[in-house]
Amino acid sequence: MTRIVVLGGGFGGVAATRHLERLCRGRPDVEITLVSRENFFVLTPLLFEACSGRLELRHCAQPIRPCLRRARFVEATVESVDVERRIARAVASDGGAYDLPYDQLVVALGAATNETLIPGSSSAFTFKTMADALLLRNQVIEQFERADAASDAELRRRSLTFVVIGGGLVGVELLGELTAFADDVLRYYPRIRRDELGFHLFEAGPRTLPEIDPELAAVATQVLARRGADIRAATPVRSLEPGRVHLADATIEAGTIVLAAGIVPNAVASRIPVAHDERGRIDVDAAMRSRSHPEVWALGDCAAIPGPSGRPYPALAQHAIREARQLAKNLVASLDGRSTAPFIFDTLGTMAALGHSQAVAKVKGLRLTGFPAWWLRRTYYLLQMPRWDRRLRIILDWTVALFFRPDITKVDITSPRDV
Ligand SMILES: Cc1cc2nc3c(=O)[nH]c(=O)nc-3n(C[C@H](O)[C@H](O)[C@H](O)COP(=O)(O)OP(=O)(O)OC[C@H]3O[C@@H](n4cnc5c(N)ncnc54)[C@H](O)[C@@H]3O)c2cc1C
Repeated sequence: MTRIVVLGGGFGGVAATRHLERLCRGRPDVEITLVSRENFFVLTPLLFEACSGRLELRHCAQPIRPCLRRARFVEATVESVDVERRIARAVASDGGAYDLPYDQLVVALGAATNETLIPGSSSAFTFKTMADALLLRNQVIEQFERADAASDAELRRRSLTFVVIGGGLVGVELLGELTAFADDVLRYYPRIRRDELGFHLFEAGPRTLPEIDPELAAVATQVLARRGADIRAATPVRSLEPGRVHLADATIEAGTIVLAAGIVPNAVASRIPVAHDERGRIDVDAAMRSRSHPEVWALGDCAAIPGPSGRPYPALAQHAIREARQLAKNLVASLDGRSTAPFIFDTLGTMAALGHSQAVAKVKGLRLTGFPAWWLRRTYYLLQMPRWDRRLRIILDWTVALFFRPDITKVDITSPRDV
């Protein structure tokens, strides 16, 4: 029996498990186990709309179990990997420990927000998980409630100031959705004027949206600037403290500060005693096999997979999904003594949603802006949901959202019990 253990049930891990299931169909000599912290995975490009309420929060996620046919699923947090004894160690939420012996290990543990660059980062919101989206949603609505109730102008201004740190795709898309959400819900808050709202985005690098070409990035900046957003490139944030963003020459007081300034590989993946690159990603060859431990494979945001130029592929879902297919083929080929093939993929394009049915996109060299870009992005990511039951729920949410304003229900999980 060959035991394949996949760590991490995100884009890469779930897709790799599904491909392995398919390739090992009818092979009783292969046992596949997927371990992940949650029993669902998040379609991160839909997280923005889940945060604003245009999409029901759960609908940006796909439960893992219905996606699997024969693989075993274990919901637990991986804590370490003993590469000598070939055991992955995981702990469940009730404290139960699992030792998962493997013959082949696939690491797809993803990445976390980089909190090491800016002192005080732990005081900011992050935007990576469904819990992040729920917390941020509650925070934004809470700020509207506080501002509407307050008579002190200073307090109102602070509550209505929102800062996003990081001008990459995540930061820009988040700012776009926040501005659109604010526009849509403002009528519920009659004591708040639109000009009291402040949206800021600070990017340390020379320009925003470095993932897309400069012309489209400029279009995105103009769209957001027209909504009153203050977008500044080449403006590194020096430090953060609760409610304050310190720049080189000014301090901004803000009720809501979100950190979206890059990622670091998952800490557990970085600790696995195999070869890593200087950023802590698992160092694999073009076939996605560890350079130091051939029974370990890695993909997605926690792996440094060299492209044809030698530079690692970017940390994107579109890559992780395709890496998964090639990795599964290579792993099964190696079991059968066949040769492996390198992962080669040319980016399809980049799309950034900006809220209010606006987006910018460059797909296969074709540039789109406005509604067509927004429609294309939505349709593409809808089809990335693996199952039709989820896709239908999303379509229903989007249809309802055409006719109604976003929901401003705040789900406070710390509410006291009624007595
Ligand atoms: C808000 C946002 C928007 C994005 N938009 C896009 C986009 O439009 N297009 C695009 O291509 N990419 C986008 N990305 C990037 C994309 O989400 C990632 O590149 C992709 O998720 C990487 O896949 P992965 O499998 O490596 O990691 P993930 O999908 O992050 O999966 C990692 C999995 O491992 C689990 N895990 C982590 N630690 C443990 C542990 N210790 N034990 C058990 N399980 C663990 C996690 O719960 C998660 O399920 C976006 C990212 C974010 C945050």
